[in-house]
Amino acid sequence: MTDRRFVYLDYHATTPVDPEVLDAMLPWFTERFGNAASRQYRLGWEALEAVESAREQVAALIGADAKEIVFTSGATESNNLALKGLAEACREKGSHFVTVVTEHKSVLDTLKRLEHDGYDVTYLPVANDGLVDLNRVREAVTTNTIALSVMAANNEIGVLAQLSDLAAIAHEKGALLHTDAVQAVGKVPFNVNKIGVDLASLTAHKFYGPKGVGALYVRRRPRRVSVTPLLDGGGHERGMRSGTLNVPGIVGLGAAASMAAKVLTEESTRLKRLRDRLLKGLQARVPDLVLNGSMQARLPGNLNVSFPGVDGEALLVSLSDDLAVSSGAACTAAEPSYVLKALGRKTELALATLRFGLGRWTTEEDVNFAVARAGEVVTRLRAMSPV
Ligand SMILES: *Cc1c(COP(=O)(O)O)cnc(C)c1O
Repeated sequence: MTDRRFVYLDYHATTPVDPEVLDAMLPWFTERFGNAASRQYRLGWEALEAVESAREQVAALIGADAKEIVFTSGATESNNLALKGLAEACREKGSHFVTVVTEHKSVLDTLKRLEHDGYDVTYLPVANDGLVDLNRVREAVTTNTIALSVMAANNEIGVLAQLSDLAAIAHEKGALLHTDAVQAVGKVPFNVNKIGVDLASLTAHKFYGPKGVGALYVRRRPRRVSVTPLLDGGGHERGMRSGTLNVPGIVGLGAAASMAAKVLTEESTRLKRLRDRLLKGLQARVPDLVLNGSMQARLPGNLNVSFPGVDGEALLVSLSDDLAVSSGAACTAAEPSYVLKALGRKTELALATLRFGLGRWTTEEDVNFAVARAGEVVTRLRAMSPV
């Protein structure tokens, strides 16, 4: 077999564990296997110390206090805990949530469940650049609103929300702001106090940590936010998330957070330059390329483009041996993306879309290769079926 080049450009779906993160994790699987709740002997309290130090690292990355970090199994759980937990804890305040149609399924489906349980949810549309209109948010949030939930960065089109404005709008009506910050954390500056956000979800595997571990930031000051737990049990994590702590995973999350903080500025400049090179290269080969989402308010490592007159299925199949890219979110790949539909893209064009996610190991050669391969495939497919 020849050594065929394969380039991974799907960093929004997941990222590899950084070797430095893995090194930090390894001892906690074997010789240092203690339960962080066993405080009677060294093996246990060392595990607890490791967990608390990871809590500091995660808090430092987002400008929070360590006491405001609750460890979870990932962002799906964090989003469920935030929204269902608030719904339950804030029954006296109201019964309404406001969100945006381009949110991740773990937010949308959680709110669907709450609707089924009698809560009201307003789903706001987005403009064709992927941003929500603040005036519409202002109209939607009422004194009956428990929380506004808007993602910090979209996982398909990389669009960055106007979070501080959204926090101000929510707070004017006594509502809280929750954000799914998965794609933003470690990629762009994200500080809970500068933004004024009340709850934020994150997950290690989107910033070079392991899968199956994440966190929920829950504000304590100046106004303490409380969420009712989803799980009953031993009362771990200040009662908000029972269950024996995943010590190696949490240590990995902490190490990944601390690395991300260190390299953020340099990496974001590097990735933005590579992303712009990717865009220019594709535009030179496919002049009628359609860009999806704002280029100003955008993650540095994201590009999302549609190719008119190309069959989406054939496009992905033709690239699959050379490039890991997707047409949208990992969980909903076969149908046209609801995010692109929300931007006004027709089904056919939405299917003929590539989402590129650049990351820590992406090189200029990878970008050149992606441009060449995507360019070739688009030209060939167009020649086969002239539209
Ligand atoms: C990946 C992702 C999630 C889900 O995170 P898990 O840890 O895999 O559950 C939630 N929201 C966004 C925006 C994501 O990209």
